[in-house]
Amino acid sequence: MTITPLMPVYPRSEVRPVRGEGCYLIGERGERYLDFASGIAVNLLGHGHPHLTRAIQDQAATLMHVSNLYGSPQGEAFAQRLVENTFADTVFFTNSGAEAVECAIKTARRYHHVKGNGHKHELIAFSNAFHGRTLGTISATNQEKMRDGFEPLLPGFAYAQFDDLEGARALVNERTAGFLVEPIQGEGGIRPASDAFMKGLRQLCDEHDLMLVLDEVQSGVARSGTLYAYEQYGIEPDIMATAKGIGGGFPMGACLATEKAAAGMVIGTHGSTYGGNPLAMAAGQAVFDVILEPGFLEQVNRMGDRLVQALEQFIPNHDDLFEGVRGRGLMLGLKMKVDSRAFVAHLRKHGLLTVAAGDNVVRVLPPLVIEDAHVAEFIEKLSLGASTYGATVE
Ligand SMILES: *Cc1c(COP(=O)(O)O)cnc(C)c1O
Repeated sequence: MTITPLMPVYPRSEVRPVRGEGCYLIGERGERYLDFASGIAVNLLGHGHPHLTRAIQDQAATLMHVSNLYGSPQGEAFAQRLVENTFADTVFFTNSGAEAVECAIKTARRYHHVKGNGHKHELIAFSNAFHGRTLGTISATNQEKMRDGFEPLLPGFAYAQFDDLEGARALVNERTAGFLVEPIQGEGGIRPASDAFMKGLRQLCDEHDLMLVLDEVQSGVARSGTLYAYEQYGIEPDIMATAKGIGGGFPMGACLATEKAAAGMVIGTHGSTYGGNPLAMAAGQAVFDVILEPGFLEQVNRMGDRLVQALEQFIPNHDDLFEGVRGRGLMLGLKMKVDSRAFVAHLRKHGLLTVAAGDNVVRVLPPLVIEDAHVAEFIEKLSLGASTYGATVE
């Protein structure tokens, strides 16, 4: 037998964390890493945050799970909080990002179905998108590496170039249900959509009665410097998927919608055994307690600006390696001239964790609670990594 007990679908690195302390991870042999990966934009309060840890511990001891067959004071309270702080009127809780996107797709299709327009079932998605790994969500990307061997995939998707409004407009026809788009592509390489693109999609939706479905699984929950990235574009979606940071490490997600968009989501149309259970709600509430504190978003933006400034100063000294920095808030990407995966691996050896992404980008996704000292340490480690890169054979 050569297959490993853990299904070998990930190229797992030599980093084997067993403990976390704030912005640091500690490996099996006691080695420390500065964690500017945050479990891929998940641990937004860092590791072992006392408020989040305590909330989960207390809720686990009080009531961990009950079925969605019962009333949910915990779910109602957190949904209310999301409604108060976003465009949405209603929320469906899930256990992951892909499930949140699945619910968003279903909500968009049902919207047209209950209006008697069942033929309007096609969502226009975008090149290099990432929406998750379920059959529905891999159908919503045209990235071959995620689709290969899993056909037949779900019909009902068309693909335009990301940030190309005219391309998107050209695909609208009588079957179109709406658009599914990440306002800032994450896996695709930290690519923020332009203002004109996002506003243009909103306008197309208004003109043709289409659903604007945003995937803010990575960009959401304060990561981009606003609670959700759509706020920065001066538009609102009809439906939105959120996950990753929302539980601060507890697996959960949500599909948010306006009352109009959710018209078809009536009793019996959707469900989840675990989704929105009391333990998840406690985690989500604890995260929101922290990120909604006055000054929190300002601090995220201040740290984001510091990082960008420091990187912009640093990059010219290593212009053989780096092309530039892009992103919003603390969702940043370093566009590389050398292979980003190899460089991320090299940085790990210098005790720094980042994440590779498409378009040859190194993602810089620190916990949102970093301070000046972490920025300084990051630049120091990056600098050491840059000056030794290529000197050793990877
Ligand atoms: C990570 C991610 C997903 C999938 O989330 P999972 O929790 O892995 O299912 C979907 N969309 C975007 C934009 C993501 O970054």
